[in-house]
Amino acid sequence: MSERVGFVGLGIMGQGMARNLMKAGYTVHVWNRTASKMAPLAAEGAHAAASPADVAAQCDIVVTCVSDTPDVEAVLLGEAGIIHGAKPGALVIDCSTISPQATRDFAAKLSEKSIRMVDAPVSGGSEGAARGTLTIMVGGADEDVERAKPVLQAMGKTITHIGEIGSGQVVKAVNQVLVVGNCLAMCEALLLAQAGGVDLQKTFDAISQGAAGSWMFTNRAPQIIRRDWRPGFTIALQQKDLRLVLDAADELGVPLPGTSLIFQLYRTLEARNLGLEGNHALVKALEYLSGIQVGAES
Ligand code: NAP
Repeated sequence: MSERVGFVGLGIMGQGMARNLMKAGYTVHVWNRTASKMAPLAAEGAHAAASPADVAAQCDIVVTCVSDTPDVEAVLLGEAGIIHGAKPGALVIDCSTISPQATRDFAAKLSEKSIRMVDAPVSGGSEGAARGTLTIMVGGADEDVERAKPVLQAMGKTITHIGEIGSGQVVKAVNQVLVVGNCLAMCEALLLAQAGGVDLQKTFDAISQGAAGSWMFTNRAPQIIRRDWRPGFTIALQQKDLRLVLDAADELGVPLPGTSLIFQLYRTLEARNLGLEGNHALVKALEYLSGIQVGAES
C-alpha cells in the first residue's frame, strides 16, 4: 500500500469503515473527538493521533466521517483541522452527509493549500459499514476520484462517480428521500398488521422477499417487532439529513410533500427526547397517533 491513510470520526459508521481499511492492508492513523472510541481500533493496530491535523501530517489520504456540516468544517478548517497538517497534494475523502454547497466551499478553501477533496457520502447503514458493502456516491475531479477508488473499494461495494465536487451529496439527498419513504411505509405496514391481529414475525416472513421488500424492511422491521430501538442511524442524524433534503428542495422550488410530512413526524419524536434512538423508532409517532403498540419486547 503506497498511500498512507487516515480516518477522522469513529462513530457508528467510522468504526466499521476504518476497520475495513485495516483489513485491506492499510496502516491507518485515526482520530476521534471522544478519545476512548479510538481504543478498540488502536488495540487492532491503528495509530491513535492527537488531532485531525496530526492525522493529516502522517497521511496522504484522510477520510472524514463526522455528523453534520459544521462538524466537517471543524475537522477540516478548525484550529487543529486537517488543513493545518496536510501536505500539498494530500486528498480528503469526506464520507459525512452534509450540505452540497458547503462541500464546494470547503473544497475551495482546501485547494488554496493545494489539498484536494472529494465528497463520498455513503448508504448501507451500520451493517454496510461493518461488512464493507456500502454504496458510495462520489463527487470530484476525475483524477481525485481515481486516486480515492482503492480506499473507497475497501469500504464499499457500489461506488459511483456522479460528477463534480458536491454531486455525491446531491445524490445522497435523493437517497434519503427513499430511505425515509421506505421507513414510513414499513412503520404503517407493521401498525396495520398489529391492528389486524396477525403475527408480526409471520407477516415479515411472508412478505419481506416479495415486491414489498426493501433494505429498510429486511433490516429494521425485526428490530421494531422486538421493540429494539438501538440505532443503526439515529433520529437526530435522520432529521439532519431531512433538513438538507428540504433545504435543497426549497432552493430548487421542488415540492416534496411526503418527505415534509415525515420530517414533522420525526420532529415529534425529537420533541419527546428520542433523538438518540434508531430511525425505525418512527413507528412510535404512529403509536402516539393510533394508541396501538407495535411489537413486544422479547
Ligand atoms: P455517530 O455515531 O453519531 O458519530 C458521529 C461522529 O462524528 C463521532 O465520531 C463524533 O465524535 C464525530 N463528531 C461529531 N461532531 C464533531 C465535531 N464537531 N468535531 C469532531 N468530531 C465530531 O454518527 P454516524 O452514524 O457514524 O454518522 C456519521 C456520518 O455518516 C453522518 O454524517 C451520517 O449522516 C452519515 N451516515 C450514517 C449512516 C448510518 O446508518 N449510521 C448511514 C449513512 C451515512 P464523538 O465520538 O466525539 O461524538
